[in-house]
Amino acid sequence: MDQSLLVMIPGPTPVARPVQDEMGREIQAFGDPRFVADYKSVIADLASLFNCGGKTFAIAGTGTLAMEMAIANSTRAGDSVLVVSNGFFGDRFADICARKGLYADVLNARWGECVSVAAVKQKLLEKHYAAITVTHVDTSTGVRAPIAEIGALTLDCPDTIYIVDGVAATGGEFTDFDGMHIDILFTGSQKAFGVCPGMLMAWASKKAIARRRALGTIPEYYIDFEKWLPVMEDPAKYFATPAINLVWALKKSLEIIKEEGVTARFSRHEANARALQAAFESLGLVVLAKPVCRAVTLSCLVYPDGVDDGAFRKAMMREGVIVAGALGAYAGKAFRVGHMGNITRNDMVVLLGAIERALISCGAPVKPGGGIGAYCAALSQA
Ligand SMILES: *Cc1c(COP(=O)(O)O)cnc(C)c1O
Repeated sequence: MDQSLLVMIPGPTPVARPVQDEMGREIQAFGDPRFVADYKSVIADLASLFNCGGKTFAIAGTGTLAMEMAIANSTRAGDSVLVVSNGFFGDRFADICARKGLYADVLNARWGECVSVAAVKQKLLEKHYAAITVTHVDTSTGVRAPIAEIGALTLDCPDTIYIVDGVAATGGEFTDFDGMHIDILFTGSQKAFGVCPGMLMAWASKKAIARRRALGTIPEYYIDFEKWLPVMEDPAKYFATPAINLVWALKKSLEIIKEEGVTARFSRHEANARALQAAFESLGLVVLAKPVCRAVTLSCLVYPDGVDDGAFRKAMMREGVIVAGALGAYAGKAFRVGHMGNITRNDMVVLLGAIERALISCGAPVKPGGGIGAYCAALSQA
């Protein structure tokens, strides 16, 4: 039973067989020339696929560690940071800042909406910030932030580091590191890259690297850019043991992404998401994120009246699909579906069939096949 469950949460996402196979390989020494070459190719591909002319990192850790890494390498205690928050993961930056003795000014959107570019502009004019943080897609709400527009604003702030949390976005949402004027971007292996959890990938602009240098010695050790830079240049050097098999799995996922092409990959995510979201609405579910700021990587879906969250998600599990509960004020009122990475249209039909049957079992007035029909109709128009 367990083995046939389709995992459709916003990370970890399904891991394709060729990526899984890398996890089971015989170990190699981290200094083995074959592994060193593999690690080098991962670093080079990450830089070129997302157009980063600065430095790229791939190390063991999760998205949360990458958030800390971004803050640790760009600020010192006492600095002010502008936190643009469209939900739970945006707010997490405020917590990280508080722990480090930073002053965080938080711009909050109502859940389902997005902080306006005008509000960000106003704040940047009012005060000097050492850094600004923006969550590309907030995983609690399915809201996508206007990364390029905010990046354009930071051109007028030469001393502000633009940090983008791409954990639920990079590899699914369109991302152009230099073109969007991002200074630090990061993600985790288990989201739109479709790799097992355990690696973080981070990109840093020349401006971000210069900021790190200007900070001198920082209190953090493992996540210090300066410790990793020599290893990323020459992976034969040791700082801390690389996650060998995860590096191979990441390499395989990058091969999949290269073969598809990043632009085609984004277009696939977009066409799939818009068709899925039309299908969700046809089933009486309300997509929490407003159409102007709706992500293509995941959706937070508010139940129709009378559907019980616990009963629905148990029914989903019986139907063979795992979806995630909602967070914050939407806990019990909505559920979340990840639709990013190496998922297929066949997976979507399985997902929608399960949602239809689970909703029917919860008493919702749903026509069997209605969601799948809406999905296929929308895809054929795309
Ligand atoms: C998942 C997620 C994180 C946290 O990543 P972990 O790998 O769970 O530590 C941070 N930000 C966003 C937007 C996420 O989706």
